[in-house]
Amino acid sequence: PVVLGIESTCDETAAAVVRGGTLLSNVVASSMNEHARYGGVIPEIASRAHAEAFVPVVSKALADADMDIADVDAIAVSAGPGLAGCLAVGVSGAKALAYAAGKPIYGINHVIGHIAVTQLQFGPFPEDTLALIVSGGHTSLLHVQDVARHVDVVGTTLDDAAGECFDKVARLLGFPYPGGPHIDRHAQSGDPHAIRVPQGLTQGKAGAKHPYDFSFSGVKTAVARWIEERQTAGETIPVDDVCASLADSVASVLAKKAVRGCEQYGSRTLIVGGGFSANSQLRAKLLEVGARHGIEVRIPEIKLCTDNGAMVAMLGSNLVQAGVKPSSLDFSIDSAMPLSKICME
Ligand code: ATP
Ligand code: MG
Ligand code: FE
Repeated sequence: PVVLGIESTCDETAAAVVRGGTLLSNVVASSMNEHARYGGVIPEIASRAHAEAFVPVVSKALADADMDIADVDAIAVSAGPGLAGCLAVGVSGAKALAYAAGKPIYGINHVIGHIAVTQLQFGPFPEDTLALIVSGGHTSLLHVQDVARHVDVVGTTLDDAAGECFDKVARLLGFPYPGGPHIDRHAQSGDPHAIRVPQGLTQGKAGAKHPYDFSFSGVKTAVARWIEERQTAGETIPVDDVCASLADSVASVLAKKAVRGCEQYGSRTLIVGGGFSANSQLRAKLLEVGARHGIEVRIPEIKLCTDNGAMVAMLGSNLVQAGVKPSSLDFSIDSAMPLSKICME
């Protein structure tokens, strides 16, 4: 099927066209620079930017694919999770388009899209596989049997997401939002063993809901305290070493648990997705640990890791192919859409 995917959960207005498992176009406009000086995404600014970018971005995605809306079999749009005002703009636009063109619409889960997108680069999912989602708001390990119908959460963060932990430390170091990529760059010239950073929850925790749960708030606090002590003492902060040590700690625990999960579930493949999977230390660690354990690690190229329309279109394509009923035209957005919901009714 030919599917147009539309994304507007946060600060990216994006659209893409997918035919089967092939990406035909992928257009992303970001309002990131407008938020940088505030230290985080300002919902009103982001919503307005979506309203302005919607028509040009969708038009360009269709034009780049050499298509007209009439050539599309279905429209998929992120229905959540995300910022309510931002979701409302993308979903209203997508509904209007679907109604006008008489096309079925799927209100999909953005986070599941982050793993579905790997199919564009690596082909269909193996029978049952494990997936690690690491994004701005999520850090979860999933057991995926059928991405169109059901995923099982095997582990999730008990507090902060990995990306959030990076962004918070980045703020302390004075990097503009989003800080993740800055930590990545500085970590490349630092010593990962310079500072002892605790590894968040390496074992399952007694009383934790899942054996593969994560915790990153302790990591963030430990690094923050370390920085503050040095600042109080008037010492200069070895920024590169702080970044390298933080990155090493976070990447190690993610890779360790993901691979352990693969072994328990008998999965020879690990799917990785979400904005934080753009992180070079995590990519290197996963590939290294995966290779050591004979597990094929499928991490997509960077532009498919961060928010985009291709992930939405690809999940939409999976839903069409699986024969899942489209969403009704009056489906609502869900800013806290749970992973158990892949598509709105
Ligand atoms: P969600 O997908 O959970 O709704 P989101 O869409 O806001 O959240 P993404 O866009 O998927 O999140 O990911 C953004 C996060 O990825 C931010 O925390 C950002 O700092 C982080 N990030 C992006 N590139 C890198 C990198 N190279 N190193 C570390 N973190 C990165
Ligand atoms: Mg973003
Ligand atoms: Fe995302």
